[in-house]
Amino acid sequence: MTDTPRSEKVIILGSGPAGLTAALYTARAGLNPLVIAGPQLGGQVSWTHEIENYPGFPGGSGQELVDVMKGQAEKFGARIDHDVALEVDLRNGSPFMVRTGNSVYSAESLIVTVGASPRKLEVPGEEEFIGRGVSYCATCDGFFFRGKHVVVVGGGDSAVKEAQFLTRFATQVDVIHRRDTLRAEPENQKRALANPKINWIWNTVVEEVQGERKVNNVRLRDVKTGEKRDFAAEGVFVFVGHNPNNDLFAGQLDMDAEGYVITDKQYRTNIDGVFAAGEIQDPQWKQVATSVGQGCAAALSAEQWLEKHEAKAVKAAPAPQTA
Ligand code: NAP
Repeated sequence: MTDTPRSEKVIILGSGPAGLTAALYTARAGLNPLVIAGPQLGGQVSWTHEIENYPGFPGGSGQELVDVMKGQAEKFGARIDHDVALEVDLRNGSPFMVRTGNSVYSAESLIVTVGASPRKLEVPGEEEFIGRGVSYCATCDGFFFRGKHVVVVGGGDSAVKEAQFLTRFATQVDVIHRRDTLRAEPENQKRALANPKINWIWNTVVEEVQGERKVNNVRLRDVKTGEKRDFAAEGVFVFVGHNPNNDLFAGQLDMDAEGYVITDKQYRTNIDGVFAAGEIQDPQWKQVATSVGQGCAAALSAEQWLEKHEAKAVKAAPAPQTA
């Protein structure tokens, strides 16, 4: 690794729909963007087995969509670095320091699109059995549960969608939800509720994941009656929402009480020259379509900001000496 910073005009942190859209727009503006992809190219979308509500993409896997978005951004000159940002220093203003596993960069502007990660249940046994029955990704792990009985925890779109996907492999899928109504969109609910391989356990939470070498049981509690019971299951798929990936920006970017980065309508953060888009700053919508729109707007804002910033720098530069 070299410690001499490599100068970049714009660095995009993250490679989900917001990041790849920001890459496309900044590339087409001739800004030669560098995308630091993060641990998973495409982010969460790449694990989604089917996307069917992104206009112009009537159906296909999240990975297919990511591949198309990446190819389109690269076609116009975006560079994708398959590395992870380990440190970001915004304290002295532009240029900003970004350190990855392999390089140190100095970036005139930054677009932060690092997304969010699956939230955990935070119950005994969950951590212990990750990879041995507990999973947060049906697309990644569903295959290992062929012929088995699994439970899905949650009542949002992820839980309801992934429960349907898991019926391809599992003999039985029980969805455990803490209320008696789902949060998922109506079309998604309708299909899942009609799926004969899905059983619904309402008003119930998982209190503990149990097993020996692998998961074999979940301890359930009915939130209305308080009654507790054991429920045999070989897999526990947890889809209870997400937490923003804000670690790199703690104490630097302003965040709300839930840790989402605060942006204005131009997707500017509290630091001049730093923009944010997608789930890192969106506690509400979290759709591919909204992230794409936000990534586009953040890129256009960054482009305008760079233009003004560079004009100011030229004006401030001392006039050349004449002999
Ligand atoms: P979500 O909408 O926040 O739903 C989380 C679910 O987990 C809720 O049903 C919530 O219950 C439950 N929950 C939260 N904490 C819990 C806990 N500690 N114990 C038990 N249950 C808990 O999250 P998501 O399903 O991951 O979706 C995130 C966003 O992505 C949403 O905006 C969603 O529309 C979007 N998305 C869309 C699609 C699509 O195909 N359109 C697919 C996936 C995701 P309550 O309902 O009681 O709050």
